[in-house]
Amino acid sequence: MLLIKNGRVVDPASGSDAARDILVDGEKVVEVAPAGSLAGRAQGAETFDAAGFVVAPGFIDLHAHLREPGQESSETIETGTRAAARGGFTAVCCMPNTKPVNDNASVTRFILDRARAGASVRVWPIGAASAGSKGEALAEIAAMREAGIVAVSDDGKPIATAKLARQVMEYSRSLDLPVIEHSEDVSLAAGAVMREGVTSIRMGLAGMPAAAEAICVARDVQLAALTEARLHIAHLSAKASLDEVRRAKQRGLRVTCEVTPHHFTLIDEDVRYDSRFKMNPPLAAREDREALLQGLADGTVDAIATDHAPHEPALKDVEFDRAPFGILGFETALALALEQLVHPGRISLMRVVELFTTGPARVLGRERKIAPGQPADLTVFSMDHAWTYDVNQSASRSRNSPFDGRGFQGAPMATIVGGRVAYRRT
Ligand SMILES: [Zn+2]
Repeated sequence: MLLIKNGRVVDPASGSDAARDILVDGEKVVEVAPAGSLAGRAQGAETFDAAGFVVAPGFIDLHAHLREPGQESSETIETGTRAAARGGFTAVCCMPNTKPVNDNASVTRFILDRARAGASVRVWPIGAASAGSKGEALAEIAAMREAGIVAVSDDGKPIATAKLARQVMEYSRSLDLPVIEHSEDVSLAAGAVMREGVTSIRMGLAGMPAAAEAICVARDVQLAALTEARLHIAHLSAKASLDEVRRAKQRGLRVTCEVTPHHFTLIDEDVRYDSRFKMNPPLAAREDREALLQGLADGTVDAIATDHAPHEPALKDVEFDRAPFGILGFETALALALEQLVHPGRISLMRVVELFTTGPARVLGRERKIAPGQPADLTVFSMDHAWTYDVNQSASRSRNSPFDGRGFQGAPMATIVGGRVAYRRT
């Protein structure tokens, strides 16, 4: 048994925010009661004193790259999930663009076997939408669902054609799987390494316009209307895309979206000739960031997702033009959300917890709450713990973060997965 006592329990599912004790037996929560009331019932239980900390349902990351199988020099399921636990995540959804691509049940089973053997947190694989994510033929979606995928995506790129995207949506709808779309018109984005604008011109770097994203979002919203599929827009970065999602929601379509911490923190003007500022979608314009903050506050955005994208130094430490897209995300996500959203008073703590928990759970058609009988997946964090991010201390195998050296207020203090302490800050 594990007793987490005296914490400020913030549970978006019930809307409660109060000092509570939580008693865990084995893998499940067995009791939640006012702080101080469970000490007698928990004789012999391991005790975690969460006084001064927030206790939230376990964080879910809808978008991560764990690089295994095939790119283990950048990350493995073991190192990636250790970084996830340090970031407060109890479950991570891993994108299928591994080598080989997770487009069939044997790769899905391999990932889940590796997770069982050495993962710190739950691993929920996302299967490819098309075979090899090549955009030509459907992947083995039904067999992968049987094996345990939670969604489909050709992430790294969009589902290549409207015709194929329609087929994927029709098929996924029959299996009740969300389709997660990396929205990008590849003809408009071809050759681009950052967002098109004054900064890209000044830096002499090829830019992609916001429309490259929004055009693809519009296409897929139309197809979601046609097929009644569940469509989730990954790493949404542009105001125009958010407007599409807002209208789709108003029409009653099952369309959701996620925003990354780097897109609500940084803008194109922050880009340096340094590949740690190169990601896809690229850092957007100031007015896009303002729109994302609005969408995070008003409920249009469903989840904060990291797009954790490790690349080993040998790949990333090259000229900006030649470097691969992507940055680390797990270990700085909560701290950036507190810094950008909660501490300035833009968004309530309850809403931020929702964006990390019930929000992403809903995208996957799951529940997330702190109640008897529920899995004991819990994230304990401090709102004010002062620390500095040193990427060289990261659990990840890679070092590609633009936030190295940044000072933060607030951090995960413990990550509990199925009643087991997967991470504890010392
Ligand atoms: Zn992507």
